[in-house]
Amino acid sequence: MAGLLCAYFLKKNKMDCVLVEENRICSGVTGDTTAKITAQHGEIYHKLYQKLGAEQAALYYKANAAALEEYRLLCKKIDCNFEIGSSYLYRRENVDKLEKEMLALEKIGVPAQWVNQTELPFHIAGAICMPEQAQFHPLKFLKSIVKELPIYEHTAVRSFDGKRYHTDLGTIYAEQTVVATHFPMWNKHGLYPIKLYQDRSYVLALENATDLSGMYRDADPKGLSFRSAGKYLLLGGGSHRTGKKGEGWQDTAAKQYYPQSKIAFRWATQDCMTLDGIPYIGRYSKNTPNLFVATGFHKWGMTGSMVAAGLIADLVQGKENPYEELFSPSRSMLHPQLAVNAFEAVTHLLKPTVPRCPHMGCALKWNSREHSWDCPCHGSRFSEDGKRLNNPADGDIWHKK
Ligand SMILES: Cc1cc2nc3c(=O)[nH]c(=O)nc-3n(C[C@H](O)[C@H](O)[C@H](O)COP(=O)(O)OP(=O)(O)OC[C@H]3O[C@@H](n4cnc5c(N)ncnc54)[C@H](O)[C@@H]3O)c2cc1C
Repeated sequence: MAGLLCAYFLKKNKMDCVLVEENRICSGVTGDTTAKITAQHGEIYHKLYQKLGAEQAALYYKANAAALEEYRLLCKKIDCNFEIGSSYLYRRENVDKLEKEMLALEKIGVPAQWVNQTELPFHIAGAICMPEQAQFHPLKFLKSIVKELPIYEHTAVRSFDGKRYHTDLGTIYAEQTVVATHFPMWNKHGLYPIKLYQDRSYVLALENATDLSGMYRDADPKGLSFRSAGKYLLLGGGSHRTGKKGEGWQDTAAKQYYPQSKIAFRWATQDCMTLDGIPYIGRYSKNTPNLFVATGFHKWGMTGSMVAAGLIADLVQGKENPYEELFSPSRSMLHPQLAVNAFEAVTHLLKPTVPRCPHMGCALKWNSREHSWDCPCHGSRFSEDGKRLNNPADGDIWHKK
């Protein structure tokens, strides 16, 4: 989503650009998203209000609300199941944090209201309803967006020196480059291996469950998420840091809350998480003025990608953008998550087990649920026979003949 929208915006601004994709477009996380388009990103506004003040918290909302509006305009002309609905952030017990979130929203003037009842199949202690949000089919949307874009698939960028980017098929010369590879692919700049980790979530598509008019997310990151998609109900949950233990698919909840339903599909995917919950959008590092990045969407990459497209299109053209500082990848790294990331890296670098991750050499963990080797440091994943499933690793762990 991030790369394609950036290319779309650059093209719209009459910039000469190409997009290169390692596999097929939409074969990454975007192909597995649940595609709620909302400015309601967990309990982020209280955090932003406390740490950065009302102005920055309001700016974060403005950026994401503008992204939603941009989708609304684009989707008028695209057949992509775009539907307006309310987004709900709920808690099943102890609403202290949720009440603080509501207070922060009120202080910065975000349209939202407190509710005590929802259409969810269990009792909630409280919820914040943000009206007029949206959901859509991201691949139908992108099918239309890519029509006029110059795209080269099966063209992995392997390395770069200066302005030359090397692929297996040849070299591309680019004045300016946007890295939208999910986890940024170059370690030399920007300290991304310490600034990012990946978090995995599990989705069930239930048939014969119920048709929800709203979109729901538990404010507890380990809780459940819900949205309807045609005849299916998408039930998400079981989140955990990639490479660590977690609950996985929520079959028990499906059976408990929708006993008449049938699991039609199941899948899992993961997103990049930043130190402070704000995506990294802008210059890749202070030393790389012509290299840009869009990553760390914290499972909110629909609006995040749209924010990235607008912001990066401006930066590439040398224009000012009101969101540059808020999303700057070079902002302060002093957050408790930094210590967690450092601890995981040191622990798994020192752990004397095989196989090792080709990205930075961390010990991989066997994931018996999905039969894969997963890296707890940066989230690379490999199939049972060693083929790479998720970056940042750029190759396999071993080759099976
Ligand atoms: C379970 C789950 C549910 C989610 N639900 C929502 C939601 O409801 N709403 C929301 O807003 N967000 C949601 N998200 C988050 C959202 O899906 C992601 O943030 C977003 O899809 C990430 O898009 P991306 O473009 O950064 O990454 P990707 O879609 O992974 O795209 C990166 C692309 O780069 C390519 N690439 C990588 N390396 C190279 C290379 N060297 N050369 C060329 N190409 C390369 C890859 O092949 C890939 O196609 C969810 C995430 C998860 C995990």
